[in-house]
Amino acid sequence: ANLSGLLFAALTVAGAVLLSRRSGGPVREIHDGIRRGEFIPYYQPVIDIVTGRLTGCEVLVRWRKRDGSIVPPGRFISLAEASGEIFPMTLALMEAARDDLAAFYCDRPHLKLGFNLFAGHFDDVTIADEVEAIFSGSSIRMGQLMFEVTERQPLHDIRRARQVIARLQDLGARVALDDVGTGHGGLSYLLKLGVDVMKMDKMFVDAIGTDRYSVAIVDSLVKLAEDMNLDLIAEGVETIEQVEYLRAKGVRLAQGYVFAPPLPASSFLALVEAMAPL
Ligand code: C2E
Ligand code: CA
Ligand code: CA
Ligand code: CA
Repeated sequence: ANLSGLLFAALTVAGAVLLSRRSGGPVREIHDGIRRGEFIPYYQPVIDIVTGRLTGCEVLVRWRKRDGSIVPPGRFISLAEASGEIFPMTLALMEAARDDLAAFYCDRPHLKLGFNLFAGHFDDVTIADEVEAIFSGSSIRMGQLMFEVTERQPLHDIRRARQVIARLQDLGARVALDDVGTGHGGLSYLLKLGVDVMKMDKMFVDAIGTDRYSVAIVDSLVKLAEDMNLDLIAEGVETIEQVEYLRAKGVRLAQGYVFAPPLPASSFLALVEAMAPL
């Protein structure tokens, strides 16, 4: 991206935030939607492609509006981040996920539960205190939690982010670097942040069977994860061919439409009851 493009994008978001703080604006709508409980977790299964078993899920937010329509995060998440509404939204999501999954996860301590955080969450250790407050009294164990930091946005202060990550890890949670290979941090984030898990972006998975140069990157990321002793999750897996390629390369964990899309709690639980019986 060039500088003027970035500047334009920044001004557009800033302008949108200013305009929409007035009643009736989009930030106001998000604010009111949070109060009304309209931002709900959808759950996408993460599968062990060697055994075929469920290993956990990723929480992906959806806006269920009063008219019943379901709005994907691409339509509101950057405004929620720019306006700060993402903070209460993330807390509401964690509480809802805790309540949706407590019973199922309580009996299946090997299952993981992943949440997306944004760059602003890594400016301040408050997020770790909030995680502790939300989950410490619940039947979901800290060791079942995972937090994803995306490489798509630059972190404001790497040293501070490292501290926040260490605090989350001290609680027993794991931390993943999301969208690896697409963004700002690249290899330096992997080296400096001390994450436990690498998530390989869909862009590279898409290349399997089509573009041999991008497939070379898949192979390199697999090797890198191995060498750095990180778990690897391949995301956006859509075909059996991709599953087989990844399995042959020694990748164990995958998520994608070939297994299941993100699902509302009731459908997710119905699906996974069958996959992970007691
Ligand atoms: P992400 O964290 O990289 O999430 C993966 C996205 O890929 C999700 O889109 C998911 O629905 C989609 N996906 C999963 N499997 C497949 C597949 O096989 N094919 C295709 N084409 N897509 C697949 P979604 O749910 O629209 O979320 C988009 C992005 O919004 C997320 O990307 C994440 O960056 C952000 N996001 C979602 N929920 C939250 C949240 O609670 N907090 C924050 N801060 N960001 C969130
Ligand atoms: Ca993610
Ligand atoms: Ca991702
Ligand atoms: Ca992605």
